[in-house]
Amino acid sequence: MKILLLGKNGQVGWELQRSLAPLGELIALDRHSTPLCGDLSKPEALAQTVRDVRPDVIVNAAAHTAVDKAESEPDVARTLNADAPAALARAAAEVGAWLVHYSTDYVFNGEGQTPWQESDATGPLGVYGQTKLEGEQAIAASGCKHLIFRTSWVYAARGGNFARTMLRLAQERERLTVIDDQRGAPTGADLIADVSSHAIRQALGTQDASLSGLYHLVAAGETSWHGYAAHAIERARQLKPDAAWKVTEIAPVPTSAFPTPARRPLNSRLNTQRLQQAFGLTLPAWQQGVDRLLAEML
Ligand code: NDP
Repeated sequence: MKILLLGKNGQVGWELQRSLAPLGELIALDRHSTPLCGDLSKPEALAQTVRDVRPDVIVNAAAHTAVDKAESEPDVARTLNADAPAALARAAAEVGAWLVHYSTDYVFNGEGQTPWQESDATGPLGVYGQTKLEGEQAIAASGCKHLIFRTSWVYAARGGNFARTMLRLAQERERLTVIDDQRGAPTGADLIADVSSHAIRQALGTQDASLSGLYHLVAAGETSWHGYAAHAIERARQLKPDAAWKVTEIAPVPTSAFPTPARRPLNSRLNTQRLQQAFGLTLPAWQQGVDRLLAEML
């Protein structure tokens, strides 16, 4: 199997380099790659890469992920999140490749308390969600075989992450304030990459075009950012009791306590039944991945 990976150095892209490697020949690109172009700001050059490589599967882990910045540069966000996936999808259809792509719970308006299903009506609150939705729609309209995974609250051991920030603050301050009215499931980039590889193997191994479609992919269970922080700090204290923990109070606050240019959905819960049934998978509880992250970090 020949695999073309775009965005190889992002949170998910980095883990995909590991999880895709055993499946076959992996050509992994980032925005600076030459002579093959992996730059999402050049959709036509990306399409040419697909024609040159003629992969069996394209995995697009690159995106404009700066949610607040997207509000002030909608054209750049649209090129990366909508036009580039559209060009990849057209080229995938041309060469008969599958396209694997990632999207977000930000395509929803965040209302209600129930986990969103794939068939629920969308209603993005900002430019990031809107352009990611346009990317999804362009892929679906292109006629290429595809797997689109909507995920949320992604973290990775590499680089900065929410847990790392909370642990640092817990050693600097006595009182932390953390948002408690947004709910979702923290999801490891490693889990997303592992599930992607499993799904690719199944879809391409069977060439079952009926697997083509949209799937929600997040860890099991749900929490708030406050619950996430409290869990991470408690677990870190158990792992490193002798560290200089200063925090004595983790106060829950509403989203309005931290104004941002882009509105965030309050309900980021995603229902993953469809994915679990189609691919015979069981998604682990979010705490399992966060505990592994902490064990690696500390
Ligand atoms: P990251 O921000 O970690 O990675 C995105 C990657 O895209 C980076 O490597 C970045 O490269 C690359 N990129 C940016 N601009 C370009 C460009 N012009 N050409 C090529 N590459 C470019 O994101 P994640 O790994 O977290 O996200 C993976 C997917 O999951 C995305 O589709 C995202 O929308 C989706 N998602 C992410 C969530 C999250 O919480 N992070 C939540 C829900 C969905 P560089 O490092 O050079 O900037």
